[in-house]
Amino acid sequence: MEDGTEIPFPTTLIKPNSSWVDGLTIDISKIPTVNGSVTMNSEFDINLTDTTRTLKGNGIPNHPVGIFPIEQGTEAYDIYSTLPAEGYANAAEIPIKPYNLDVTLPRYPTVNTESACIESLMLGVAIQTGAAWHVDYAVDASYQAVDPNAALPTDWAWGHPYETEYHYHGYSWKSFPDQGKEGEHSPLFGYALDGFGIYGPRSEGGVPVTNDDLDECHGHVHIIEWDDGQMIEMFHYHVNTEYPFTLGCFRGTPMKISSTEAGQVTENNNDTSGSVNVRAGLVFGVASMVAAFVFAFA
Ligand SMILES: [Zn+2]
Ligand SMILES: [Zn+2]
Repeated sequence: MEDGTEIPFPTTLIKPNSSWVDGLTIDISKIPTVNGSVTMNSEFDINLTDTTRTLKGNGIPNHPVGIFPIEQGTEAYDIYSTLPAEGYANAAEIPIKPYNLDVTLPRYPTVNTESACIESLMLGVAIQTGAAWHVDYAVDASYQAVDPNAALPTDWAWGHPYETEYHYHGYSWKSFPDQGKEGEHSPLFGYALDGFGIYGPRSEGGVPVTNDDLDECHGHVHIIEWDDGQMIEMFHYHVNTEYPFTLGCFRGTPMKISSTEAGQVTENNNDTSGSVNVRAGLVFGVASMVAAFVFAFA
């Protein structure tokens, strides 16, 4: 540990004092939005071998993003500008920049006996848009754990930059262009870092998925359409409207992402009761990571 900082890892979320959080509910209609519709150059490709799937791009989504740095005089600015950000005056000053998104996943992943904790900010890639999903777990300036959706505005697509890397939170799936057909299982929205698919919010027969239908990693097993229309019985994740929205842990073995994940925290092992080492200076209000299992508001 470079700086000797070691604090107990909070496993229960606190409720931020946000105007859009009412009891245990996040009222998404009340969340301020980061203004703007900025088109940036997006690059994204998927390459297959018999056993692997490589996702490569510049991390910029193929849709317009909000204005970052955030405009002064907006509600979002007032919130972000109170948060520290390494290398910037405050978190409102962080721009979006391209980065090297490059990860090779197993094309036919298998389920492990034990699930693995999420140990990096990034947990998957949205293939419809080419941007990354981050875990919906963060610590505030006092290292208290929060749901970032309860603490910070994002742009219209539920995205924002962390250390200049654009990524999604919460209801980002609502901004994906292909939502599939009503009455059917949602289409594939992306891949988790263990190679399993992340599907939209509807299960078989078009029934909306609740957390009660899913395991602690936010997935389940049934026959799904995999590459080129083959129907196979396979574990897969679902996004939905309940925390943790995307993944709670990995059922397979997550692949490592390039070292640009500067805000990464490492957990000692897959034990959620232990402490984590938190690198000093990573605080950006909602910065950091490691969702182990499903969290709930205290
Ligand atoms: Zn974030
Ligand atoms: Zn399903």
